Amino acid sequence: MPTLLDAWSLHLATDRSVGRSAYCDLVCYTVDQAPMAVDLRDNTNLWGVPPTAQSAIREAAVAVSRYPQIYARELRVALAEYMGVEAEMVVTGCGSDDVIDACFRALADPGDRVALPSPCFATAETFARMNGLSPVVVTLNDDRSVDIGRLGRSDARVIYLSSPNNPTGGLVRREEIERLLNLSRASVILDEAYGEYAGVGSCDMIAHCDRLVVVRTLSKAFGLAGLRVGYGVGDPAVIRMVEKARGPYKVNSVAERAAVAALRADREWVAERVCQAIINRDRLAVVLRTLGLTPLPSAANFLLCPTADARTLTRLLAAVGVGVRCFVGLSTIGDAIRITVGPWPLMEIFLERLAAVLERKSNGEVAASCA
Ligand SMILES: *Cc1c(COP(=O)(O)O)cnc(C)c1O
Repeated sequence: MPTLLDAWSLHLATDRSVGRSAYCDLVCYTVDQAPMAVDLRDNTNLWGVPPTAQSAIREAAVAVSRYPQIYARELRVALAEYMGVEAEMVVTGCGSDDVIDACFRALADPGDRVALPSPCFATAETFARMNGLSPVVVTLNDDRSVDIGRLGRSDARVIYLSSPNNPTGGLVRREEIERLLNLSRASVILDEAYGEYAGVGSCDMIAHCDRLVVVRTLSKAFGLAGLRVGYGVGDPAVIRMVEKARGPYKVNSVAERAAVAALRADREWVAERVCQAIINRDRLAVVLRTLGLTPLPSAANFLLCPTADARTLTRLLAAVGVGVRCFVGLSTIGDAIRITVGPWPLMEIFLERLAAVLERKSNGEVAASCA
C-alpha cells in the first residue's frame, strides 16, 4: 500500500496546476559531471585556485558561524577598484548566473520580451523564462558573428549577449556594442565572463549609456568557480534595482573573503595564467587542424569545433577519461565539441588520446560499438 508520502509526491509530480505555470516546461540544469582524468568541459581555470585566495578560504572558515555582509560591501569595493569604477556601480551575486537572474527581474516585467543570440550561454534563456519573460532568439550571422541589427530591432525590453560568446568564443566588437545601444532602447546585459581572456572591458561605456549592465565573474580566469562569485557593473540607479531583485546575503562569507583576497593579491597570478591560456589556445588550434578538426576563432579560454561526429567523439573521449562538452544542433553551426584550454602538459594528454580515438574511428573500429 502506498504511504501517505508516496501519494503526496505522486500528486505533486503529476498535477500541473501546482505552482507557477511558467515552471512546468522548465527542466533542471543538467550537465555530465562524472569525474574525468582530463576534464575540459566547463571553461574553468585549469591551473587551479590562486594562492592568496586559498589561504583566505582557510582563514575564513572560523567566521562562518556569523552572517556575511548583507550586500557584500567589501567585495564591491574590491571589485570597483579592479574594474576602475565606483563601488555604487557594482552589484555582486552567487555566481554571475545570480546577477543575470536578478537583472532580468529588475529590468523587465513578467511578459516582456528578452532578445538573445543563438547559440549563446543557454542558462540566460532559462533565467529569462524563470522570470516570466519571453525569449526572442536571434540566430548568429552566417559568419557566426552576433546579428546586432536583428537583436537591436527585436523590440525587446532587455537584450542579453555575451562577449566573448559561449560556446562559439567569438568576440563582439566595441563598435557593434555601441551600434546595439544606438539601435535599441532596451536594457542591455553584456556578459563578459571571459573578458580577461579577450583583454576587453566595456564598463567605460556605462558613462554614456545607463542602459548597459556589464556582467562578469570570478569563475573563469580567477579560478574560483566553486565559490560562486559574480558581479555586475552599471549605472548606480540601475545597480540599486538589480540589488533589490537579487536579495540579501547572496555571497557567503568564505567566498567574499577569498574573492577580496584574490582581487587584491592574486591579479598577477591570474594575468600570467590568462597569457598562458591564450598561447596554449592558439597552439592547440593549430594541432587540432592537423587532426582534421576546424576550431572556430576564439577570444576566450576554449575552442569550439563543429563536427558531425560530436556525439560519438564525446563518448569515445569519455571512455578514455577525457571530458569535452558536446553540443547538438546549434543554430548555424550544427553539432560541435567545446574544449577548455589548460596547461600544456594536460593539452598533450588530451591530444594524444584524441589522436588515438580519431585513428580508431577512421579505421572503422568504433562504428559497431558506438552505433
Ligand atoms: C561560465 C559562464 C558564466 C559564469 O557563471 P557563474 O555563475 O559566474 O559561474 C556566465 N556567463 C557565461 C557566458 C559563461 O560561460
